[in-house]
Amino acid sequence: MSGNGKKVRTTRKKVKAEGKLDEISSERLFAPPPYSRIVVICLVVALLAVAITERGAWNVRKGGISTKDDDNGGPGPDINGTNMSNATWFSPYRLGFNGTLANFSVHEQVDFGYRIPNTTGSLNCTLWIADLLEQYGFNVSWQNFTGDYGVGDGVNFSNVIGRLEPPPGTGNFTPGSNDTILLLGAHYDTRPFADMDTSENQSKPIDGANDGGSGVAVLLELARILALEGNFSDGGVMADINGTSPLDPFFPLNVTIELVFFDGEDYGKGAENMFYGSNHFADLVTEHNRSGEYIGAVIVDMIGDADLQIYKERNSDISAPWLNDMVWEIAEKLGHNASFINRTKWAVIDDHIPLALAGIPSIDIIDIEYRFWHTIRDTIDKVSAESLGQVGEVVESLVYYISDMVPKVVEKP
Ligand SMILES: [Zn+2]
Repeated sequence: MSGNGKKVRTTRKKVKAEGKLDEISSERLFAPPPYSRIVVICLVVALLAVAITERGAWNVRKGGISTKDDDNGGPGPDINGTNMSNATWFSPYRLGFNGTLANFSVHEQVDFGYRIPNTTGSLNCTLWIADLLEQYGFNVSWQNFTGDYGVGDGVNFSNVIGRLEPPPGTGNFTPGSNDTILLLGAHYDTRPFADMDTSENQSKPIDGANDGGSGVAVLLELARILALEGNFSDGGVMADINGTSPLDPFFPLNVTIELVFFDGEDYGKGAENMFYGSNHFADLVTEHNRSGEYIGAVIVDMIGDADLQIYKERNSDISAPWLNDMVWEIAEKLGHNASFINRTKWAVIDDHIPLALAGIPSIDIIDIEYRFWHTIRDTIDKVSAESLGQVGEVVESLVYYISDMVPKVVEKP
């Protein structure tokens, strides 16, 4: 998909049509509606398939996650020639993710007020995110842009990006080369109206504690952990909120971590009025032919619900089945299989779709069975530190796992 200049304007998110992309439209990709639903589905599946084919198949993707046959000399996870199903591979990963701290950061976001694009609440939230990332040692950049479609046409949006790169000369890492970046993304904006609420509330904005707040909270807590550990890669001791814990033996990371905080995901009704930040980000990836630099992308969205039930998402299974499988296998190994239910259910249109169509293998970790979705009751009391902690541990483990196997992964056929 990269390089052909096509732009995705995906549609309505969180479509609860079991197994179907309900409606997918695009300004440029498709002519204006009406299209029969089945044609639209086929087009999108075909586009995703093209994207996947162009990316080629890595060893790890062919063989799943049990292909690694040595541990590169480090005392990392002992998965030599073993299958994850019988390995205790994750035990060396001393996970630092703290769900309670993540939950505090949801409070802080809600305290900024509504994070509606181009408002004071939104600006203050982005400044806070950028400041934290800088404190943690990430390189921060901004993508400020003006929307050019739908109700966001002419509206100013901002994506915030934090990058943590391994030190030069580390492992097989060469900045800017292929398959060096793991993107973790979340939208920080909140919906300007509660269209799923009762009629008297439908014009009111939402707090977005879960829808917006939870994903950002997980990324920021991961930033804290990854940067702390990365900064003590000389074998020192990592200080964390619980006191101290020994450094994980395989730091620094072999991959660049790119945390992307997307704006404008939830701005309007229907996908033709949504996903401004991820569409812009994907456009730039395409324009600069950068999709090959990405190992993959993981979006986290609405993962703070106390009643957490995350199913594998169908479009993710098309774009990056290996990555989806990896996440759910990790969750099972961590004992979080009650929250990460290992079967596909919904097809969701979210920020992962523009990335997938730009050629980045992308998945969405999302619990769309959230009673308070797009209502004014999406408030802080609905978000659980335990749920944030479970998702955070899974993504933290995923980062270490992918980092540890990258020297193998880069051997493309
Ligand atoms: Zn939403």
